[in-house]
Amino acid sequence: AGAIAFRDVHFAYDPARPILKGVSFEVPAGKTVAVVGPSGAGKSTLSRLLYRFYDVQQGAITIDGQDVRDVTQKSLRAAIGMVPQDTVLFNDTIAYNIRYGRPDASDEEVRAAAEIAQISGFIEHLPDGFKSMVGERGLKLSGGEKQRVAIARTVLKSPPILILDEATSALDTRTEQEIQAALEIVSKNRTTLVIAHRLSTVVGADEIIVLKDGRIAERGTHAGLLRQN
Ligand code: ADP
Ligand code: ADP
Repeated sequence: AGAIAFRDVHFAYDPARPILKGVSFEVPAGKTVAVVGPSGAGKSTLSRLLYRFYDVQQGAITIDGQDVRDVTQKSLRAAIGMVPQDTVLFNDTIAYNIRYGRPDASDEEVRAAAEIAQISGFIEHLPDGFKSMVGERGLKLSGGEKQRVAIARTVLKSPPILILDEATSALDTRTEQEIQAALEIVSKNRTTLVIAHRLSTVVGADEIIVLKDGRIAERGTHAGLLRQN
């Protein structure tokens, strides 16, 4: 379940400046498709349209054949997990932040998700910025640790569809590799849309879409695209 199709998708934030100019591709159920391309090409906009932060202005996006505009916000949020570029954490414990999206989860399930994301050591702490209010329990999280909280959240939620939006771009190389490994575990058997700057971070994708100036410039496998360029 969870096959995604973008069909002739057009979108502009400002009518005078089209961002997506007829983009069509599919992410088959359980597969991983990566969208790469220069900054400003419209990559993140695709993920925002899928999640319905905005709606397409022409064309359609479907999940299992159903137009996302006909899906309730609630079921769309239940179906899609997002690991964004910069995870914004709530003013509460890491455990609370992991549970966001599945408030019914047991402590046991939260611990298991934290284990997979390798943050079990500090789930009772509060994230950065709230330290002064809570003294000892406040904890400054690095970018990588915030990413791990987002990953634990996604593990717990276990949605059929995953959006990874430049999920490792803000990290140093070593952390990036560790997070990449965790993300590969999480995206296994899920329909995954990866948004990335660089071809080198999406070697394992089933298909790579190169987006330039709102259109698909090239598409293929990692090896195929390397041969062409
Ligand atoms: P990418 O992810 O490929 O870097 P984006 O999809 O984030 O590109 O953005 C595509 C273009 O749309 C950029 O020129 C960006 O400045 C513009 N843009 C993004 N978000 C908004 C917004 N909320 N309002 C107006 N313009 C936006
Ligand atoms: P934008 O692309 O417009 O900047 P983001 O992709 O950063 O928006 O998402 C906004 C916030 O919403 C993120 O910080 C993220 O934590 C939260 N969020 C979005 N989708 C989900 C989801 N499916 N599950 C949990 N949190 C989500």
